[in-house]
Parts: sequence; structure tokens; C-alpha cells
Amino acid sequence: MWDNVNEFWKLAIELAWESFKNESLPIAAIIVNTEGQVVSSGRNQILEKHLINRKMSHAEMNALMNLDYDAHPEIRKYTMYTTLEPCPMCMGTIVMSDIRKLRIAGKDPWAGAVDICELPYIADKNMDIGFESGLVSNVLTVLYLYRLWEGYGTNAVNFLKITSEYYVQETVLAKELLSQSMLRKFIEQDMSIEEVYNHIAGKLI
Ligand SMILES: [Zn+2]
Repeated sequence: MWDNVNEFWKLAIELAWESFKNESLPIAAIIVNTEGQVVSSGRNQILEKHLINRKMSHAEMNALMNLDYDAHPEIRKYTMYTTLEPCPMCMGTIVMSDIRKLRIAGKDPWAGAVDICELPYIADKNMDIGFESGLVSNVLTVLYLYRLWEGYGTNAVNFLKITSEYYVQETVLAKELLSQSMLRKFIEQDMSIEEVYNHIAGKLI
């Protein structure tokens, strides 16, 4: 449960929940330096209409744009933690920003683009990419699927179909929670992220 979650994932999950509360997609990214300090973070804001470039306002993009590159000459040794496999735009930006180590909580069967690392240009950079497994990944997936079905469920969109078919169990739970508007109730009750996480995790174990 929450107490067993690594500090970096805790921060990312908290930020993802912030995006959910702001009607965007619950996706977040943080950047950690060689001393284990969080030096930047970003969250998905693509549905927040006050932003002029909101379509590009993905979590990883925001985390990278918030970082002063010249102040971090050792960025190649830093680690980015992201709650969902980066899309083509973010994966390209991660590479071009000199981040080499990436930890990802959930695979994105629709837009996930770690495969571009097979391109000769990127393969030459020896990216170190790892996927998280277990509850952190599962809870974040339920959160993500809930928001997808809430936001796009009335449209028969391909990405929703493919993502849901990939995550069968998580989709069942996400739709069950959505049918009760559970996460919106949690927001009304001002529930902490710890309580939200433990509630979802409790249904997964
Ligand atoms: Zn992206």
C-alpha cells in the first residue's frame, strides 16, 4: 500500500492526481539528480484551457521545460520517473534533453514510443529504460483508465479500445469505480492521495 511506495513514485502519483483533479489526464513525471534529489517535475495539463499550448503540455515535456539545462551539466546521469510510457513527442524530447535513464510505471499500448530507441541514432545513446511492475503501476493504470472512460467513453475511439483490451482487469475496476463516480466523490471529500491510492490498491489485491 502507500507506505511501501518509493518516495519518487509517491511524488509522481500525487502530481498525477493533481492533473486528474484539474480535468487533465493523470500522468506525471519527475526528474531526480545523482544525489537522489528531485530537480524538476511536470504533470499532464492538456485539457486545461487557460494554457495557450496545452496540446503539448504533457508531463514529461513540462518536467523537461521546467529544468534549467545549464544548471545541470550531469543530466545524462539523472533519472526520469514517468507514470506512463512516453508518447513519440515526449520520448523524442527526453532523448534530445540528454536524459538517459527512464523509469516508467505503465506501458501505453496506444501511444507509447520507447520503441523509437531502436532507431540507430537513439540506439547509439544507450538509453536505460525500465518498467515498474506491481501495485504502483496497477493503481496508476486504473486512475488513467477511469479518466479515459470518463472523458472519452461515449466516443468509440480507437485508443480507448486498444488500451482497455490491453489492461483487462484494470479496465473492469476503473469502469466499476466510474459507475459510482467514486473518484469524483473522493475529490468532493477532499481525500488525500494516500487514501485514494489505498482505496484503489485495496481493490486490486
Ligand atoms: Zn507525451
